[in-house]
Amino acid sequence: MNKFEQLGLSESLLKAILDLGFENPTEVQEKAIPLLLEKDTDMVALAQTGTGKTAAFGFPVIQKIDANNRNTQALILSPTRELCLQITNEIKNYSKYEKGINVVAVYGGASITEQARDIKRGAQIIVATPGRMQDMINRGLVNISQINFCILDEADEMLNMGFYEDIVNILSTTPDEKNTWLFSATMPAEVARIGKQFMKDPIEITVGAKNSGSATVSHEFYLVNARDRYEALKRLADANPDIFSVVFCRTKRDTQAVAEKLVEDGYSAAALHGDLSQAQRDGVMKSFRGRQIQMLVATDVAARGIDVDNITHVVNYQLPDEIETYNHRSGRTGRAGKLGTSIVIVTKSELRKISSIERIIKQKFEEKTIPSGIEICEIQLLHLANKIKDVEVDHEIDNYLPAINSVLEDLTKEELIKKMVSVEFNRFINYYKKTRDISNQASGSERRDRDDRDGAPRENNNGGATRYFVNIGSRDNFDWMSLKDYLKETLDLGRDDVFKVDVKEGFSFFNTDPEHTDKVMEVLNNVQLEGRRINVEISKNDGGGRRDHNGRSSGGSFGGGRSAAPRREGSFAPRREGSGGGFRSDRSSAPREGGFGPRSSSAPRREGGFSSDRPRTEGSSDRAPRRSESFGDAPRPRRPRRD
Ligand code: AMP
Repeated sequence: MNKFEQLGLSESLLKAILDLGFENPTEVQEKAIPLLLEKDTDMVALAQTGTGKTAAFGFPVIQKIDANNRNTQALILSPTRELCLQITNEIKNYSKYEKGINVVAVYGGASITEQARDIKRGAQIIVATPGRMQDMINRGLVNISQINFCILDEADEMLNMGFYEDIVNILSTTPDEKNTWLFSATMPAEVARIGKQFMKDPIEITVGAKNSGSATVSHEFYLVNARDRYEALKRLADANPDIFSVVFCRTKRDTQAVAEKLVEDGYSAAALHGDLSQAQRDGVMKSFRGRQIQMLVATDVAARGIDVDNITHVVNYQLPDEIETYNHRSGRTGRAGKLGTSIVIVTKSELRKISSIERIIKQKFEEKTIPSGIEICEIQLLHLANKIKDVEVDHEIDNYLPAINSVLEDLTKEELIKKMVSVEFNRFINYYKKTRDISNQASGSERRDRDDRDGAPRENNNGGATRYFVNIGSRDNFDWMSLKDYLKETLDLGRDDVFKVDVKEGFSFFNTDPEHTDKVMEVLNNVQLEGRRINVEISKNDGGGRRDHNGRSSGGSFGGGRSAAPRREGSFAPRREGSGGGFRSDRSSAPREGGFGPRSSSAPRREGGFSSDRPRTEGSSDRAPRRSESFGDAPRPRRPRRD
């Protein structure tokens, strides 16, 4: 007898389980299924997403309803349309050998009359989002006065999204004698209140520790300067060539901007947020599920209910405002027994939040260092070698081999290997040679220090930077942008190394990190500009103004036209090119020429050769190398999905 049989499940369910390839019940299934089958009871189950809870309530519901009765007997409420559809599909799969069972999904954004028609045909199980369900009740399109089972899935999420009143109203129209099963990852007061109000002596089961992060997720943080956040993200992606991730940002704008930058820089990424239409969101999710997108950049709201298996990493590009939200983010990985990693890119001033999260998830973070350029090159090289080893040869290529052999015939095996991998390696090494080390590790004592001192960061007003006074300004035909370019060029510094540039008439201010101070003082004090010696001093002025994500100052007094500035060929920092080149989710299925947006797996992108696959701004080290076909772009073998 296998373990599923021991739970008391029917033959038809066991057959479906066999088809699904489930070998053993998960913890929540083992705990919940026998109880729910044997007893007519209410239940509160504390379980994270990805623990197999859909089957934990799905199997008993299917087994207990009367397939010969066409009345609605079970209502499952879920927070999002995504999850609603996911549950519906799962229930359909579980009940495929059960004759006469009909499941209907009820959610906003689709035709309410069609949904009502489907229900009228006889749906024993309705899976619904609270808003649409309430709407249907109000219009008299559904009758749930006879139901025997009501299931609240991800109850904490539903309440988090403001569905308290809808849920209360919906539950009030259901009969008292029904059984209510409430599934939730956490137990905030509102959820407990619903439990108290609508449930009778519920059996409580807990999977893992209450409110704890899943045991299959490890938590890491990387400490960086705020201006290096994006660079850090790119490096983490480069250091994990097979990354399949959700990248969380705080706002829709940041989500869109980060996704666009990633696409511009050659990563397979797309944005998911509330400003996209439903069709666009569906397109993005389809591409993500199909793994044509490796990095889904999402807001918390849009990512709710994302139920995709095998996500390798959750990246907190920015930490959420509500620390509790971290739990929901990290729960997107480490599902169905797989291991996953939740990464936080954090700045010094946010370090305290890490300790708060540790207290909530009852797990420790590991502090990691952003991989150096050379480490990334090594990883990519090995990845490539393995990929060459594992690639399946399509014998179509045989036709071309004579011509290829004649080109390569003079090379020895060693030379051939060296040259093959250099095709990729050169690209990475050339890029990373020019970049600086961005890791900004907090020593253990620094972390403790901050934690102990209630977290007030000990940075000076310049955020730890050095501010300089220099005796050149707008009188010398500089504006802030051209002066920044001039300084970077003269000092041989990178795009983000000079910042907070404030140009006055006869003098200016600018900042660098302290590591460049000696160089700035030595080099600039020995430079002449049109016969005049430049004089630079360390300033006491604290700068002010903010930087935007390009490292540019956005302080009111710095901006201004560039017209009067002396332009130096090749010296300008590359600018964002608007949204051009960015993947727009409405184009999800179109193969993009030379781009990296989601691609249809049957139409692989032609990169036009490796040598063209370089950072777009020649001579600048600002952009990460684009990925070519050779790095993680090919469709991966994946577990067949059942939806
Ligand atoms: P859930 O928590 O219900 O969203 O389930 C997460 C994923 O685990 C889904 O893809 C399920 O199909 C899968 N799953 C559920 N139960 C099992 C099981 N016993 N063995 C393997 N996978 C499972």
